[in-house]
This record gives sequence, structure tokens and C-alpha cells, in this order.
Amino acid sequence: MNEVYPMLSVEEARRRILEHFQPLEPERIPIMEALDRVLAEDVVAEMDIPPLPNTAMDGYAMRVADVAEASPEKPARLKVVADLAAGYVLEEPIQPGTAVRIMTGAPIPPGAEAVVPFENVEVDGDEVLVFKPYATWKNIRHAGEDVKAGQVVLPKGKTLRPQEIGMLAALGRPTALVHRRPRVAVLSTGDEVIDITDPWQPGKIRDANGYTVSALIRKYGGVPIRMGIAPDTIEALTDKIREALDAGADFILTSGGVSMGDFDVVKKVLAKEGEMHFWRARMKPGKPMAFGEIQGVPLLGLPGNPVSSTISFELFARPAILTMLGKKKLEKPLIDAILVDAVKRKDNRRHYLRVWLEEKDGQTYAHLTGDQGSGILLSMVQADGLAIISEDLNSTPPNFPVKVMILDWPEVA
Ligand code: AMP
Ligand code: MG
Repeated sequence: MNEVYPMLSVEEARRRILEHFQPLEPERIPIMEALDRVLAEDVVAEMDIPPLPNTAMDGYAMRVADVAEASPEKPARLKVVADLAAGYVLEEPIQPGTAVRIMTGAPIPPGAEAVVPFENVEVDGDEVLVFKPYATWKNIRHAGEDVKAGQVVLPKGKTLRPQEIGMLAALGRPTALVHRRPRVAVLSTGDEVIDITDPWQPGKIRDANGYTVSALIRKYGGVPIRMGIAPDTIEALTDKIREALDAGADFILTSGGVSMGDFDVVKKVLAKEGEMHFWRARMKPGKPMAFGEIQGVPLLGLPGNPVSSTISFELFARPAILTMLGKKKLEKPLIDAILVDAVKRKDNRRHYLRVWLEEKDGQTYAHLTGDQGSGILLSMVQADGLAIISEDLNSTPPNFPVKVMILDWPEVA
């Protein structure tokens, strides 16, 4: 099997996986449910924003000719004829020698050409004194200065952040057309694996992966379909996978059963029921992994060790889910840090070390989170990120510069 399926670089494994994914079909949903989803249509403005010219300041709207000669010594005197709050319009054109008291956001009355802010006038009974000339449009927001009718405001492919949700509301759109969320089946394998509330017995361990993987799916915008635990038999696993297909899974994620042991059945089931594309990537943790498809539905067999399955998820399942959601930016951002601890290793795999980060004197320092074994759940619990050590380094000295993939970067774009 090893000759037929060579060990792939992380990039090549990722490329071969992502070839099998594309954005899912669109659905129309209320905008309050559309946060973090990706638009499947161009959103075009039907009217200008703001729709009417309006005042940017609380002040007095007036004709610029009436204050053209105004000076501190000879202020112009204008009679205040109306009071206009935001939300109302005056239809009467403003007459020479008069002003309208107007609040921020209120539409400019016909004939008014500028707004004198409250702080620049003196009030004298029902008159105001203006002490200098004003240019036309001073303190007035133009109609359409933000958005013009007919403009593509939000292009197809854009991820909806809170500001885009607000823009949709401003445009009068209660709904948005977005790519639907992928349904991702989650299946743990192993005779030794039991669920949270099952009574513990010697030889058994609780299913951590089923829960981590489901939470990761949700975190990155998918809908987990929990299939429970399959014992290590071809029949049991095949049945569970059929159930996942019947449940309409767009993607199936298993954990465990992908290495070289006697009971590693995921690869066997993939080969028997569908097609296996590859099964190893040159990385640590997480070398064993299986990727294939059954009835046209991609299946990624994550490793059984909890740290390995989480890291493999981040590297391979996450970009697949993001692709189905219509996202284009699939990489997690990397930051520069100094890896304080020395690392000794001898294989030619890329290492993803669990680190916690510390800021000191404008520099980011990364510290190993203790034991880096692929079964050490606490190494992930304490981690802020994964320090990446390239495959061509056999060891690194203390204080070595590294790139760190931040685990909890907000997911945008
Ligand atoms: P496997 O790849 O199936 O040989 O599993 C590798 C290691 O991961 C074994 O020690 C398993 O007991 C452990 N393991 C497998 N599945 C899970 C799981 N769902 N939760 C926690 N540990 C697991
Ligand atoms: Mg197993």
C-alpha cells in the first residue's frame, strides 16, 4: 500500500483534498442569521444613501447670499422660521433673510445652501446672528455621498461581517443569498472508545475526538452531524458511513483507524465501498490520515490521537469547510515569534508544536506547552498556537525564529 500511496507534503495533501470541494448551493436567509456567511449574489443599491441631502451638524440652515457680507463687526441677522428634527421634511422653500433651526440628519429645506453650527451663532430672541460667510454645501451631506443607486455595494463572494449586515439593513434588504452551510458527519472509531456518560471499564477511553471535531466544525461554520462511535469492524463502520450518507452529509470525518494496526479499518472501508485517494502526510503530529470518497461524498479519516486529529482538522478539514461556505481565504494567518525552547528531532516531517505565547518588549515569544505527545490533550488546551518547524530542520537551538499559526484568530474573508 505504501508504494501505491506515497507520503505527501502538507501542501500537496491539502491541494488534493481541496480539489474535491466547491461552494455549496445558495439559500436565502434573514440577515441576522447571515453573519460570517458568504454572499452568492451581487447586492446592488436601489436608492441613494443618504437618500436626501441632510445636515451634518446641529445648526441653522440658510441661504449663503444672506451671510455673504457677514463679519464679527457686522453680523448677518436671520429670522428663525422653523425647527426641524431628523426624520421630518420641510416642503416650503426657505425665504431670503430667514433660517431653519435643524438637527443632524434632517433633510436640508429647499433653497437652503449651508448650515451654520449652533456654536457659531448668537441667538437673539427669534433671530440668529451669523458672523462670517459660508460656502455653499458647508456642513451638508450630499444625497448618495455614501452609496449611489445602481452601485454594487457588496459583491458576490464577500463574507458578511457585522458592518455588511448593517449595510444590508441600510439598503432595505431583510434577507441575503448566501452559500449554505456544509453538513459534516462526525464518526469516532475504536473498540476502546466510549461516550461521555457510558460507565468506564478497564481498557476503555472516552471519546474526545467526536466532541472536538464537532466543535471545530461548528466553529468554522459547518453543521456537525454526530454519528457516534463505530467499533473496529468493517461492517460497523460501513453501516455508520451509510447512515451518514442517508443523513445528507456533504463531508464525512472519521477519527482513528487510519494507521498500520490490525484494526485500522477506515482505509479498508474506503477502498471497498468507494475510492481512496491518499493516506499519509509528512507532518507531526498527524502522519496517518486517509482521504477518499464514498458515493461522491468526500471522507477524511483523521488520526485517532486527539492532538493529531485536531491539528489535521485545522490543516485539512477546515479549508474544505471554508471552501464549501464559499470563502476564498483558506489560510490561517501566521505570526512571527521566537521559540524559546530548543527542539530535537530526526525525521523529515513538518512539526506543529503546541505553544503558548508571551509578549515581551515588543516581541512575541513562544513556549512549548509541556509534553508534545500526540495523545496529550492538555498540550492543546494550553496552546495559543502551533509553531511550525520545517521538514528540512533536524533540530532548532533555543530562541529560534518561527512562524506560529494562531488557533483562535477571528475567521474572516
Ligand atoms: P488509532 O489511530 O485508531 O490507532 O488511534 C490512536 C490513538 O488514539 C489510540 O490510543 C486511541 O485509543 C486514541 N483514540 C482514538 N480515537 C479516539 C477518540 N475518539 N478520542 C480519544 N482518543 C482516541
Ligand atoms: Mg483505533
